[in-house]
Amino acid sequence: MRQAAYNFPHWRRGPGNVNSVIHWFRRDFRVMDNTGLAAATRLGDAVTGVFMLDTRWFAANMEKTGAYQAAFWLAALRELRTGLAQLHIDLRIITTDDPVAGLLSLARQLRASAITLNKEYEPAQMAQDHRLLREAEKAGHDLKIYTYCDSVIFEEFDILTAAETPYTVFTPYKRTWLAKYTAEAAASRGRPRKLPAPPAMDTTPVPLSAALGFAEVRLDVAAGESGGRTMLDEFTQQRIGLYRQKRDIPAADGVSRLSAHLAAGTISIRQCVAAAISAGALKGCAGAECWLSELIWREFYRMVLFHFPHTVRLPFNRRYDHLPWENDPNKLRTWLAAQTGYPIVDAALRQIQSTGWMHNRLRMITAMFLTKDLDIDWRTGEQWFMRWLMDYDQASNVGGWQWSAGTGTDAAPYFRVMNPILQARRFDPDGVFVRRFVPELARVPVEFVHEPWLMPPLLQSQCGCRIGQDYPAPVVDHNTARQRAIQKFK
Ligand SMILES: Cc1cc2nc3c(=O)[nH]c(=O)nc-3n(C[C@H](O)[C@H](O)[C@H](O)COP(=O)(O)OP(=O)(O)OC[C@H]3O[C@@H](n4cnc5c(N)ncnc54)[C@H](O)[C@@H]3O)c2cc1C
Repeated sequence: MRQAAYNFPHWRRGPGNVNSVIHWFRRDFRVMDNTGLAAATRLGDAVTGVFMLDTRWFAANMEKTGAYQAAFWLAALRELRTGLAQLHIDLRIITTDDPVAGLLSLARQLRASAITLNKEYEPAQMAQDHRLLREAEKAGHDLKIYTYCDSVIFEEFDILTAAETPYTVFTPYKRTWLAKYTAEAAASRGRPRKLPAPPAMDTTPVPLSAALGFAEVRLDVAAGESGGRTMLDEFTQQRIGLYRQKRDIPAADGVSRLSAHLAAGTISIRQCVAAAISAGALKGCAGAECWLSELIWREFYRMVLFHFPHTVRLPFNRRYDHLPWENDPNKLRTWLAAQTGYPIVDAALRQIQSTGWMHNRLRMITAMFLTKDLDIDWRTGEQWFMRWLMDYDQASNVGGWQWSAGTGTDAAPYFRVMNPILQARRFDPDGVFVRRFVPELARVPVEFVHEPWLMPPLLQSQCGCRIGQDYPAPVVDHNTARQRAIQKFK
């Protein structure tokens, strides 16, 4: 099994140091604790970092990147360029629709002896990496491709069941992960070596989002490597202790908000795990323990994607391959427009559109609402989140959607359909969160804030929230929709 899919030579020092090395940045936009980059500076005396701005993917209205993630990544690249320059490492941004061809051409131009890259787990990225390996070999000249484990603590064959198969349930995976964990696993790879000054550095500015056709958006988290570090320190030194209690309350400042950093690699997983452990994750601090568990979820979903790449488009549980979906365009329209008439769902959908982020509890509520209450295929929602999320990460997004739809690993049992009203009452009891994003409800009394349609007509007029005029009536009746969803899965 070890010989399967991603069989590149792992780091080994060559017979002698090579001179010119390229490090291909993908989702590892940081200087510190970057395994592949640190290795590149050990392998070569001249290192060129490169980011391939793939026009099939990194462009407005294209397949993948949305405006928030684009803005976050471009800001990260700006800071990365400055940090690399201090080490005399050049950063080039190459616009291309064929990153492999672009890299090989750069390697020829620089007479590079090696390309380093940190491993990624998305099937499309892995296919591209295999192509790079094949084409580098075919080209015949002595170009080595070195790949490194960087975005996870444990790789795809490190955590297996006793029968040497991948885990498909989180809790036993986590148990084995924790049993295997040693401080060495999260030890920092340090700062890359400072190199001799090159004759010239590329000074072409990192493009602005607008120049690539993206809408201008305001980021509400500090971007770049420095932003990630500051946020991690602030969270693990001040808030992690209360994480367990507050993590489900969308109006509270209870979670780390580090997901965009973890997805872009502006913070490393080792830095996060080490900080959780310093905060007491293995010594009884419930908040830190719970946060570490979330980091392990991230890793679990990466491993699921590696071992079961079909899950990108098909249910993990193949029993559900032909599950019928109503896919009513009118119902879908209400969800996309954040006008379902369920305040918690609409507030969450407006949060994603106005900030590029959505609280985890709300991701579950909105995803279940789309798939169970509205009977719309989970892939539609998955694609929508992909376009909006600043922290979009295929493994976690597909994992989260399949979990919510009931088709995934460790999926919520089919009969568990979240009730958006009870969820809202429990996690937003005073309606603070819904009022923040749904101003139509600003003056609605708290007892009606999650079910405004129950207000008598006079009260609706008095508080400026007439159902059907100022705010929509519920698109479906939750209890009826729930029964239908359960029947479908039986
Ligand atoms: C339908 C759905 C879609 C999702 N899509 C994404 C996505 O595209 N990108 C993404 O990073 N997360 C996704 N998640 C997981 C989770 O919602 C976010 O990681 C989390 O809300 C980010 O906020 P935070 O950084 O404050 O998290 P914290 O609560 O502070 O957690 C710390 C880190 O742990 C990881 N993490 C936390 N919860 C999960 C989880 N359930 N699954 C996997 N990793 C987790 C994230 O990297 C996160 O930054 C999705 C969840 C669902 C239900």
